[in-house]
Amino acid sequence: MLSVEEARKRVLEAVGVVEAEETPLIDALGLTLAEDAVARNNIPPFDNSAMDGYAVRSADVSCASRDNPVELEVLGDLAAGYATEVSVGRGQALRIMTGAPMPAGADAVVPVELTRAQGDRVLILDCVSEGTNVRRAGEDVKDGETVLAAGMAIGPAELGMLASLGYAKPRCFRRVRAGIISTGDELVAVDEELAPGKIRDSNSYTLFGMVREAGAEPLRLGVVRDDADLLERTILDNLERVDLFITSGGVSVGDYDMVKDVLGKLGEMNFWKVAMRPGKPQAFGHIGGKPLFGLPGNPVSVMVSFEQFVRPAILRMMGRREIFRPQVTAVLDAPMGRKEGRMEFVRVIVEWRDGRYHARPTGPQGSSILKSMVLGNALAVLPEDVGRLEPGAEVTVQLLR
Ligand code: AMP
Ligand code: MG
Repeated sequence: MLSVEEARKRVLEAVGVVEAEETPLIDALGLTLAEDAVARNNIPPFDNSAMDGYAVRSADVSCASRDNPVELEVLGDLAAGYATEVSVGRGQALRIMTGAPMPAGADAVVPVELTRAQGDRVLILDCVSEGTNVRRAGEDVKDGETVLAAGMAIGPAELGMLASLGYAKPRCFRRVRAGIISTGDELVAVDEELAPGKIRDSNSYTLFGMVREAGAEPLRLGVVRDDADLLERTILDNLERVDLFITSGGVSVGDYDMVKDVLGKLGEMNFWKVAMRPGKPQAFGHIGGKPLFGLPGNPVSVMVSFEQFVRPAILRMMGRREIFRPQVTAVLDAPMGRKEGRMEFVRVIVEWRDGRYHARPTGPQGSSILKSMVLGNALAVLPEDVGRLEPGAEVTVQLLR
């Protein structure tokens, strides 16, 4: 049986990066940058006021105080969005709003709370030193600076930064399309009545969410009965539409290995068993050049396998540099009994307390207990050779949210 690391390595070696394209900024959220984003001007572009107040020459007000105010002549008003030719001379001030460019001559801003207006004059009630309440040109980003690098994920901050830099259509790796297929005679749709022996198809929704959260586009291709011909047809009909397939179910031993058979018949199987719990039987290979992840049927196995293999593969395909979840060390608050031999992914609740991460299992850990994924926010990763763990032991956890 393959180890999780070996299986992950094989998956990542077997997937390719998709093309990049110019993408309207608004559509770039969740995508990966395919070019470095370089500043073509300073941000901010000019020295400007950080406060509403009065632009002054700091030397004029160096001895100002409430008991000993300094009186200045007010030259006018300057709002954000406007520039002025006015220059502030000795004994003068300009009323200025946050974000307005600093006028020539002035080198500091006295906040309005520290002033008293008197007609066309103002009393300054406190001293300021040079540069106080002035935002310098380029203090955020310097002209020519590489601010974002190819391979970075575009989140809200990156979206804003790209806008600041003037990138209306950054080059991004395109969104990959993942075709999602549920298999099983026992499955009914979410809005159907439960007949005896039937359960609702939840996996296609879980996978929809996980694919979307990874920044890719999920395509739910429906429920396929336990019939290899039907599965074959569904895959072939959608081969041109998708970049990868994700199936659930039909890979366990009792299930006459439908997915494995179809993969072997239409394409190449890479592996079909991984030394992990949950999720031992699962298939990975290619059909018509498209990766196919044959995940197990049990809802938790689906999610754990997706996390270990599919998510990193999707991120790699979409050009992402960082493809793994953050991992931290946590101290166990409750024991964990387990059988050795396979890497185990225990659903845990991780909390930051007393200066470190603590983890405790969510409760029953069966691979069909989907509630464990609802309650948990992390997976504790127990290596093959680790047996029972006592409270106080340290474990590695993958943070999921
Ligand atoms: P299988 O690997 O096909 O034997 O599936 C294992 C178990 O996973 C089945 O007995 C079902 O209880 C469950 N299962 C399979 N597919 C789904 C699905 N789409 N949604 C929810 N549960 C499923
Ligand atoms: Mg099945």
